Amino acid sequence: MEYNIAILRGDGIGPEIVDSAVRVLEKIAVKYGHSFKFKPYLIGGCAIDECGEPLPEETVNGCLESDAVLLGAVGGPEWDGLSGDRRPEKALLGIRSALGLYTNLRPARLFPALRGASPLREDMIENGFDILIVRELTGGIYFGDRGYRDGKFGEEAFDTEAYSVTEIERIGRAAFEAAMKRGKRLCSVDKANVLETSRLWRRTMHTLAEKYPEVEYRDMFVDNAAMQLVRDPKQFDVIVTSNMFGDILSDEASQITGSIGMLASASLGDGTRGMYEPIHGSAPDIAGTGKANPIATILSAAMLLRYSLGLGNEAECIESAVDKVLEQGFRTADIVGDSGSEPVSCEEMTERILSCI
Ligand code: NAD
Repeated sequence: MEYNIAILRGDGIGPEIVDSAVRVLEKIAVKYGHSFKFKPYLIGGCAIDECGEPLPEETVNGCLESDAVLLGAVGGPEWDGLSGDRRPEKALLGIRSALGLYTNLRPARLFPALRGASPLREDMIENGFDILIVRELTGGIYFGDRGYRDGKFGEEAFDTEAYSVTEIERIGRAAFEAAMKRGKRLCSVDKANVLETSRLWRRTMHTLAEKYPEVEYRDMFVDNAAMQLVRDPKQFDVIVTSNMFGDILSDEASQITGSIGMLASASLGDGTRGMYEPIHGSAPDIAGTGKANPIATILSAAMLLRYSLGLGNEAECIESAVDKVLEQGFRTADIVGDSGSEPVSCEEMTERILSCI
């Protein structure tokens, strides 16, 4: 089969890690007899430098014409001085919105070989954990009304959280469906003791829960969820939550797996086209040094095969190659932990994974 994949390298370590993932996809294409057509487009800081805007129309159109989008990361100190609307990060919200991607899947799994890199005590993670965070991606406070005004104490800024029943229902359905394919346990995280949007969120989730009697459902306040994730991560199977809570909790979950450099994500809408990216940023502090861990992006490419192209076996082939390389003891600097391994470069890690495919 022939597939079109839009490639958005972005800034910082983006080009290095995306090129690693493209090499992995090329090897998969040869092994399984597929044809992947990779079309590169600009996004973020590099797009600002070249076209004067973080999300050029050509990029949006290219992504809309593709079967799937693979993204590195955007942003960096060069563009930090720009105003909110001109910043590279604005492109992320724009492209998610343009592609109608309202569901963000963020798996946080403890790789057995990386137990030593987790900051949690050995006895807390001896049985591992495998959590899927389902984050709402195109609503809530990141997209609500905002601005500045004269307030009681002078100048003040405000951001607004708003959620409709429709938005909550569609992310809720995605989470219940995901739970049905996994451990059949779903925890919905909100702040219903304080926020009106959370009360609507909870009411809507309860109505949905009646349609999924096989799923063991529960609610949890976000402050408690933040504690429970580091106290007993194994209690969670699937977590569903709003845009901002999901942003924060999934970074916390990433840290207990050992490194942010390991975690992939998928953003999906109503059809099969999705956007796949590591959950970390552009890591400008290590860009160009060869220290970037390409695994999160390579695992994002595996999710792309599974969710957008329906190639589950090919996805598993990549995932088990990553497992094998970690079992063999190869580590990039961010996941060396107390393993005693000499860190390998982004290039060498990529070569090792390629050799296991
Ligand atoms: P970051 O995720 O880029 O980096 C945090 C820390 O993790 C750094 O020490 C970095 O070196 C390390 N790290 C991240 N990815 C790594 C990898 N693959 N291998 C090894 N180490 C890795 O977050 P930050 O420093 O807060 O942000 C840097 C820039 O990235 C900012 O401009 C920010 O706005 C942007 N950002 C972009 C995205 C995105 O494109 N989706 C997400 C978050 C931040």
